Amino acid sequence: MTLPRLRPDINDLPAYKAGQRAEPREDLVTYKISSNENPYPPLPGVLQAIMHAALDTHRYPDPFSRRLVEALAIRFDVPQEAIALGTGSVAICGQIIASAAGPGDEVLFAWRSFEAYPIWTQISGATSVQVPLLPDERHDLPAMLAAITERTRVVFVCNPNNPTGQVVTTAELEHFVARVPSDVLVVLDEAYREFIAGDDVPDGIGFYRRYPNVVVLRTFSKAYGLAALRVGFAIAHETVASALRKTATPFGVSTIAEEAAIASLAAEEELLERVDALVLERQRVWSALRDQGWPLQRTEANFVWLRLGDRTADFAAACEQAGIVVRPFAGEGVRITVAETEANDRVIEVAGRFRSPLG
Ligand SMILES: *Cc1c(COP(=O)(O)O)cnc(C)c1O
Repeated sequence: MTLPRLRPDINDLPAYKAGQRAEPREDLVTYKISSNENPYPPLPGVLQAIMHAALDTHRYPDPFSRRLVEALAIRFDVPQEAIALGTGSVAICGQIIASAAGPGDEVLFAWRSFEAYPIWTQISGATSVQVPLLPDERHDLPAMLAAITERTRVVFVCNPNNPTGQVVTTAELEHFVARVPSDVLVVLDEAYREFIAGDDVPDGIGFYRRYPNVVVLRTFSKAYGLAALRVGFAIAHETVASALRKTATPFGVSTIAEEAAIASLAAEEELLERVDALVLERQRVWSALRDQGWPLQRTEANFVWLRLGDRTADFAAACEQAGIVVRPFAGEGVRITVAETEANDRVIEVAGRFRSPLG
Protein backbone atom coordinates (compact mmCIF):
# COMPACT_ATOMS: atom_id res chain seq x y z
CA MET A 1 0.00 0.00 0.00
CA THR A 2 1.39 3.42 -0.87
CA LEU A 3 1.43 6.01 1.85
CA PRO A 4 -0.25 9.38 1.38
CA ARG A 5 1.90 11.61 -0.79
CA LEU A 6 3.37 14.59 1.07
CA ARG A 7 5.60 17.40 -0.09
CA PRO A 8 9.13 15.95 0.14
CA ASP A 9 10.45 19.18 1.69
CA ILE A 10 7.87 18.87 4.46
CA ASN A 11 8.84 15.23 5.07
CA ASP A 12 12.43 16.41 5.54
CA LEU A 13 11.45 19.14 7.97
CA PRO A 14 13.20 18.89 11.32
CA ALA A 15 10.71 18.63 14.17
CA TYR A 16 10.67 21.66 16.49
CA LYS A 17 12.83 20.71 19.45
CA ALA A 18 10.99 22.09 22.42
CA GLY A 19 12.64 22.28 25.80
CA GLN A 20 12.46 18.93 27.62
CA ARG A 21 10.20 18.61 30.62
CA ALA A 22 11.60 17.96 34.06
CA GLU A 23 10.48 14.53 35.25
CA PRO A 24 9.43 14.46 38.90
CA ARG A 25 11.87 12.72 41.24
CA GLU A 26 11.57 11.29 44.75
CA ASP A 27 14.87 12.70 46.01
CA LEU A 28 14.62 16.34 44.94
CA VAL A 29 12.45 19.00 43.34
CA THR A 30 13.22 19.18 39.62
CA TYR A 31 13.18 22.32 37.49
CA LYS A 32 12.57 22.84 33.79
CA ILE A 33 14.87 25.64 32.74
CA SER A 34 14.91 24.73 29.07
CA SER A 35 12.18 26.91 27.53
CA ASN A 36 12.81 30.43 28.85
CA GLU A 37 9.54 30.36 30.74
CA ASN A 38 8.68 32.74 33.55
CA PRO A 39 8.97 30.94 36.90
CA TYR A 40 6.21 33.04 38.49
CA PRO A 41 2.64 31.70 38.36
CA PRO A 42 -0.21 33.97 37.17
CA LEU A 43 -1.13 36.95 39.36
CA PRO A 44 -4.44 36.46 41.19
CA GLY A 45 -6.12 39.12 39.03
CA VAL A 46 -4.94 37.45 35.84
CA LEU A 47 -6.13 34.07 37.07
CA GLN A 48 -9.51 35.60 37.85
CA ALA A 49 -9.76 36.98 34.29
CA ILE A 50 -8.88 33.53 32.95
CA MET A 51 -11.54 31.82 35.06
CA HIS A 52 -14.13 34.38 34.15
CA ALA A 53 -13.36 34.01 30.44
CA ALA A 54 -13.62 30.23 30.81
CA LEU A 55 -17.37 30.66 31.34
CA ASP A 56 -17.60 31.47 27.61
CA THR A 57 -15.73 28.38 26.48
CA HIS A 58 -18.68 27.15 24.39
CA ARG A 59 -18.44 30.31 22.23
CA TYR A 60 -15.89 31.19 19.58
CA PRO A 61 -13.63 34.06 20.56
CA ASP A 62 -13.89 37.50 18.99
CA PRO A 63 -12.11 36.83 15.66
CA PHE A 64 -10.53 40.29 15.79
CA SER A 65 -9.67 40.26 19.52
CA ARG A 66 -10.83 43.87 19.45
CA ARG A 67 -10.51 44.53 23.17
CA LEU A 68 -6.92 43.38 23.27
CA VAL A 69 -6.05 45.26 20.07
CA GLU A 70 -7.51 48.41 21.63
CA ALA A 71 -5.55 47.93 24.84
CA LEU A 72 -2.31 47.33 22.93
CA ALA A 73 -2.86 50.37 20.70
CA ILE A 74 -3.18 52.53 23.80
CA ARG A 75 -0.27 50.90 25.59
CA PHE A 76 2.16 51.37 22.70
CA ASP A 77 0.63 54.50 21.22
CA VAL A 78 0.13 53.02 17.76
CA PRO A 79 -2.97 52.81 15.52
CA GLN A 80 -5.13 49.72 16.01
CA GLU A 81 -4.61 48.97 12.30
CA ALA A 82 -0.90 48.52 13.01
CA ILE A 83 -1.49 45.58 15.33
CA ALA A 84 -1.78 41.92 14.35
CA LEU A 85 -2.19 39.12 16.86
CA GLY A 86 -1.19 35.51 16.64
CA THR A 87 -1.13 32.32 18.67
CA GLY A 88 2.23 33.27 20.13
CA SER A 89 4.71 35.35 18.21
CA VAL A 90 6.14 32.12 16.84
CA ALA A 91 2.96 31.84 14.78
CA ILE A 92 3.38 35.42 13.58
CA CYS A 93 6.87 34.52 12.32
CA GLY A 94 5.07 32.03 10.08
CA GLN A 95 2.42 34.58 9.08
CA ILE A 96 5.15 37.05 8.08
CA ILE A 97 6.92 34.51 5.90
CA ALA A 98 3.64 33.27 4.40
CA SER A 99 2.73 36.88 3.58
CA ALA A 100 6.01 37.83 1.96
CA ALA A 101 7.95 34.81 0.73
CA GLY A 102 7.36 31.73 -1.38
CA PRO A 103 9.37 29.39 -3.63
CA GLY A 104 12.32 31.24 -5.14
CA ASP A 105 12.39 33.88 -2.41
CA GLU A 106 14.93 34.16 0.38
CA VAL A 107 14.48 34.62 4.11
CA LEU A 108 17.61 35.88 5.83
CA PHE A 109 18.60 35.51 9.47
CA ALA A 110 21.59 35.05 11.73
CA TRP A 111 22.53 31.56 12.81
CA ARG A 112 22.34 30.30 15.42
CA SER A 113 19.10 32.06 16.22
CA PHE A 114 15.46 31.18 16.87
CA GLU A 115 14.70 27.69 15.55
CA ALA A 116 11.32 28.65 14.16
CA TYR A 117 12.82 30.82 11.37
CA PRO A 118 14.24 27.99 9.22
CA ILE A 119 11.20 25.79 9.89
CA TRP A 120 8.63 28.37 8.76
CA THR A 121 10.83 29.25 5.79
CA GLN A 122 10.93 25.65 4.65
CA ILE A 123 7.16 25.28 5.11
CA SER A 124 6.61 28.30 2.86
CA GLY A 125 8.84 26.80 0.18
CA ALA A 126 11.26 29.77 0.38
CA THR A 127 15.00 29.44 0.92
CA SER A 128 16.78 30.07 4.23
CA VAL A 129 19.90 32.18 4.08
CA GLN A 130 21.80 31.88 7.35
CA VAL A 131 24.58 34.27 8.28
CA PRO A 132 26.86 32.92 11.05
CA LEU A 133 27.02 34.88 14.30
CA LEU A 134 30.28 36.67 15.08
CA PRO A 135 32.72 34.86 17.41
CA ASP A 136 31.31 36.92 20.30
CA GLU A 137 27.79 35.60 19.50
CA ARG A 138 26.48 38.88 18.09
CA HIS A 139 24.64 39.34 14.78
CA ASP A 140 27.07 40.05 11.94
CA LEU A 141 24.95 42.85 10.48
CA PRO A 142 27.47 43.88 7.78
CA ALA A 143 27.54 40.28 6.53
CA MET A 144 23.74 40.15 6.67
CA LEU A 145 23.54 43.35 4.58
CA ALA A 146 25.95 41.82 2.09
CA ALA A 147 23.79 38.68 1.91
CA ILE A 148 20.69 40.57 0.75
CA THR A 149 19.84 39.81 -2.87
CA GLU A 150 17.04 40.57 -5.32
CA ARG A 151 15.24 37.56 -3.91
CA THR A 152 15.39 38.54 -0.23
CA ARG A 153 11.91 39.21 1.14
CA VAL A 154 12.29 38.97 4.92
CA VAL A 155 15.20 39.58 7.31
CA PHE A 156 14.90 38.51 10.95
CA VAL A 157 16.87 40.27 13.66
CA CYS A 158 16.37 38.52 16.99
CA ASN A 159 17.14 41.07 19.68
CA PRO A 160 18.21 39.83 22.22
CA ASN A 161 19.17 36.74 20.27
CA ASN A 162 17.80 33.36 21.27
CA PRO A 163 19.80 31.32 22.34
CA THR A 164 22.90 33.50 22.82
CA GLY A 165 21.35 36.50 24.63
CA GLN A 166 23.53 39.02 22.81
CA VAL A 167 22.04 42.25 21.49
CA VAL A 168 22.17 44.52 18.48
CA THR A 169 22.72 48.10 19.64
CA THR A 170 20.67 51.11 18.58
CA ALA A 171 23.51 52.50 16.47
CA GLU A 172 24.11 49.16 14.76
CA LEU A 173 20.43 48.66 14.01
CA GLU A 174 20.07 52.19 12.66
CA HIS A 175 22.99 51.67 10.30
CA PHE A 176 21.50 48.34 9.22
CA VAL A 177 17.84 49.25 8.70
CA ALA A 178 18.76 52.40 6.79
CA ARG A 179 20.58 50.22 4.23
CA VAL A 180 18.08 47.39 3.79
CA PRO A 181 16.00 47.95 0.62
CA SER A 182 12.69 49.49 1.67
CA ASP A 183 10.67 46.70 0.02
CA VAL A 184 12.29 44.03 2.22
CA LEU A 185 10.69 43.35 5.60
CA VAL A 186 12.95 43.70 8.64
CA VAL A 187 11.47 41.72 11.53
CA LEU A 188 12.69 42.77 14.95
CA ASP A 189 11.90 39.79 17.13
CA GLU A 190 11.77 41.27 20.62
CA ALA A 191 10.44 38.30 22.59
CA TYR A 192 12.78 39.21 25.48
CA ARG A 193 12.50 42.97 25.21
CA GLU A 194 11.33 43.46 28.82
CA PHE A 195 14.47 41.80 30.24
CA ILE A 196 16.87 44.30 28.66
CA ALA A 197 18.81 46.32 31.24
CA GLY A 198 21.34 48.09 28.98
CA ASP A 199 20.42 51.51 27.61
CA ASP A 200 22.14 51.03 24.24
CA VAL A 201 19.54 48.53 23.00
CA PRO A 202 16.82 49.82 20.67
CA ASP A 203 13.09 49.71 21.25
CA GLY A 204 11.90 48.37 17.91
CA ILE A 205 8.73 50.44 18.04
CA GLY A 206 10.79 53.59 17.41
CA PHE A 207 12.07 51.93 14.24
CA TYR A 208 8.54 50.90 13.23
CA ARG A 209 7.54 54.58 13.42
CA ARG A 210 10.27 55.61 11.00
CA TYR A 211 10.51 52.62 8.66
CA PRO A 212 7.38 51.15 6.97
CA ASN A 213 9.28 47.89 6.34
CA VAL A 214 9.97 47.24 10.04
CA VAL A 215 7.85 44.67 11.89
CA VAL A 216 8.17 44.42 15.67
CA LEU A 217 7.31 41.10 17.33
CA ARG A 218 6.39 40.90 20.99
CA THR A 219 4.91 38.14 23.12
CA PHE A 220 2.99 37.62 26.35
CA SER A 221 4.79 34.30 26.85
CA LYS A 222 8.01 35.36 28.54
CA ALA A 223 7.97 38.51 30.69
CA TYR A 224 4.18 38.38 31.16
CA GLY A 225 4.16 34.70 32.03
CA LEU A 226 1.34 33.54 29.72
CA ALA A 227 3.28 30.92 27.73
CA ALA A 228 0.50 28.33 27.91
CA LEU A 229 -2.13 30.67 26.52
CA ARG A 230 -0.42 31.39 23.18
CA VAL A 231 -0.72 35.07 22.44
CA GLY A 232 1.76 37.37 20.76
CA PHE A 233 1.53 40.41 18.54
CA ALA A 234 3.17 42.32 15.74
CA ILE A 235 3.33 46.06 15.32
CA ALA A 236 3.81 46.94 11.68
CA HIS A 237 2.78 49.26 8.88
CA GLU A 238 -0.97 48.90 8.23
CA THR A 239 -0.54 47.07 4.92
CA VAL A 240 1.79 44.56 6.56
CA ALA A 241 -0.37 44.16 9.67
CA SER A 242 -3.38 43.60 7.43
CA ALA A 243 -1.57 40.77 5.59
CA LEU A 244 -0.64 39.25 8.95
CA ARG A 245 -4.27 39.25 10.01
CA LYS A 246 -5.25 37.55 6.75
CA THR A 247 -2.67 34.80 7.21
CA ALA A 248 -3.56 34.12 10.86
CA THR A 249 -5.43 31.01 11.97
CA PRO A 250 -9.08 32.09 12.27
CA PHE A 251 -10.18 32.44 15.91
CA GLY A 252 -6.62 31.55 16.92
CA VAL A 253 -6.40 33.75 19.98
CA SER A 254 -8.84 32.33 22.52
CA THR A 255 -11.08 34.41 24.76
CA ILE A 256 -9.08 33.16 27.74
CA ALA A 257 -5.83 34.29 26.14
CA GLU A 258 -7.28 37.65 25.18
CA GLU A 259 -8.67 38.35 28.64
CA ALA A 260 -5.48 37.20 30.36
CA ALA A 261 -3.44 39.48 28.11
CA ILE A 262 -5.71 42.45 28.85
CA ALA A 263 -5.47 41.75 32.58
CA SER A 264 -1.70 41.47 32.27
CA LEU A 265 -1.43 44.85 30.59
CA ALA A 266 -3.49 46.29 33.41
CA ALA A 267 -1.15 44.67 35.95
CA GLU A 268 1.98 45.53 34.04
CA GLU A 269 3.68 47.36 36.86
CA GLU A 270 3.48 44.35 39.14
CA LEU A 271 4.57 41.98 36.38
CA LEU A 272 7.55 44.14 35.52
CA GLU A 273 8.66 44.05 39.17
CA ARG A 274 8.96 40.30 38.72
CA VAL A 275 10.95 40.90 35.56
CA ASP A 276 13.28 43.19 37.55
CA ALA A 277 13.78 40.42 40.10
CA LEU A 278 14.63 37.98 37.27
CA VAL A 279 17.09 40.48 35.80
CA LEU A 280 18.83 40.67 39.21
CA GLU A 281 18.93 36.88 39.31
CA ARG A 282 20.38 36.84 35.81
CA GLN A 283 23.14 39.17 36.96
CA ARG A 284 23.80 36.98 39.99
CA VAL A 285 24.03 33.80 37.89
CA TRP A 286 26.10 35.49 35.19
CA SER A 287 28.61 36.91 37.69
CA ALA A 288 28.92 33.61 39.54
CA LEU A 289 29.63 31.77 36.28
CA ARG A 290 32.12 34.40 35.21
CA ASP A 291 33.87 34.08 38.58
CA GLN A 292 34.16 30.35 37.90
CA GLY A 293 36.07 31.27 34.76
CA TRP A 294 33.46 30.62 32.09
CA PRO A 295 34.02 32.74 28.98
CA LEU A 296 30.65 34.49 28.97
CA GLN A 297 29.22 37.06 26.58
CA ARG A 298 26.68 39.67 27.49
CA THR A 299 23.07 38.51 27.90
CA GLU A 300 20.04 40.76 28.00
CA ALA A 301 17.43 37.98 28.01
CA ASN A 302 16.09 35.66 30.73
CA PHE A 303 18.73 33.04 29.96
CA VAL A 304 22.46 32.56 29.81
CA TRP A 305 24.35 30.80 27.05
CA LEU A 306 27.36 28.57 27.57
CA ARG A 307 29.25 27.72 24.41
CA LEU A 308 30.39 24.26 25.39
CA GLY A 309 31.09 22.74 21.98
CA ASP A 310 31.61 19.00 22.24
CA ARG A 311 31.06 19.07 26.01
CA THR A 312 27.46 20.23 25.54
CA ALA A 313 25.83 16.83 26.05
CA ASP A 314 27.98 16.09 29.13
CA PHE A 315 27.02 19.38 30.71
CA ALA A 316 23.32 18.80 30.03
CA ALA A 317 23.64 15.32 31.58
CA ALA A 318 25.32 16.76 34.69
CA CYS A 319 22.45 19.23 35.02
CA GLU A 320 19.89 16.48 34.63
CA GLN A 321 21.56 14.53 37.42
CA ALA A 322 21.17 17.58 39.61
CA GLY A 323 17.45 17.78 38.77
CA ILE A 324 17.61 20.68 36.32
CA VAL A 325 16.73 20.35 32.65
CA VAL A 326 18.55 22.83 30.42
CA ARG A 327 18.37 23.24 26.64
CA PRO A 328 21.34 21.72 24.82
CA PHE A 329 22.13 22.55 21.20
CA ALA A 330 24.17 19.51 20.20
CA GLY A 331 27.83 20.31 19.64
CA GLU A 332 27.28 24.04 20.19
CA GLY A 333 26.24 24.99 23.67
CA VAL A 334 23.62 25.09 26.37
CA ARG A 335 20.91 27.66 26.97
CA ILE A 336 19.94 28.00 30.62
CA THR A 337 16.82 29.87 31.66
CA VAL A 338 17.10 32.09 34.72
CA ALA A 339 14.30 30.78 36.93
CA GLU A 340 13.58 29.98 40.58
CA THR A 341 16.43 30.89 42.96
CA GLU A 342 16.89 27.23 43.89
CA ALA A 343 17.21 26.24 40.23
CA ASN A 344 19.68 29.06 39.61
CA ASP A 345 21.75 27.98 42.63
CA ARG A 346 21.93 24.47 41.23
CA VAL A 347 23.07 25.78 37.85
CA ILE A 348 25.91 27.65 39.56
CA GLU A 349 26.81 24.58 41.57
CA VAL A 350 26.83 22.18 38.60
CA ALA A 351 28.74 24.66 36.44
CA GLY A 352 31.36 25.10 39.16
CA ARG A 353 31.87 21.35 39.50
CA PHE A 354 31.98 20.95 35.73
CA ARG A 355 34.78 23.49 35.40
CA SER A 356 36.93 22.19 38.22
CA PRO A 357 39.32 19.35 37.27
CA LEU A 358 37.85 17.13 40.00
CA GLY A 359 34.28 17.67 38.78
C1 LIG B 1 9.84 32.47 22.86
C2 LIG B 1 10.15 33.20 21.58
C3 LIG B 1 9.15 33.67 20.73
C4 LIG B 1 7.70 33.51 20.89
O1 LIG B 1 7.11 32.74 21.71
P1 LIG B 1 5.53 32.59 21.68
O2 LIG B 1 5.28 31.82 22.90
O3 LIG B 1 5.18 31.89 20.42
O4 LIG B 1 4.97 33.97 21.69
C5 LIG B 1 9.48 34.38 19.61
N1 LIG B 1 10.75 34.60 19.31
C6 LIG B 1 11.75 34.16 20.08
C7 LIG B 1 13.13 34.47 19.70
C8 LIG B 1 11.49 33.44 21.23
O5 LIG B 1 12.49 32.98 21.96
